[in-house]
Amino acid sequence: MSSALACPQCTLTNTYPDASNYVCADCGFEWPIAAMASDEDAAEVVRDANGTALADGDSVVLIKDLKVKGSSITLKMGTKVKSIRLVGGDHEVDCRMDGGSFMLKAQYLKKV
Ligand SMILES: [Zn+2]
Repeated sequence: MSSALACPQCTLTNTYPDASNYVCADCGFEWPIAAMASDEDAAEVVRDANGTALADGDSVVLIKDLKVKGSSITLKMGTKVKSIRLVGGDHEVDCRMDGGSFMLKAQYLKKV
């Protein structure tokens, strides 16, 4: 059983699932299985076109021309954006440029 989870309390791996909880046989600590799973979901990482993780303050370039919805502006491929900001949702990256502020999809960006 080398794949057993480490107990959050005593860090030993003598643990087993019991109904909706994990139980530590050494110290008796119990913790819910569901809570462990949702913690991992919360740490969702935004990745660029190459799969590189992006962070606030990174610089990126556009890897294709992007039309800005609701305007006649086209952001040109190769445009560099400094100090991106990550936000939640469908368009994960908030970019500030000369033309204003745009919400872009991380899949069309490449970290530089
Ligand atoms: Zn324990």
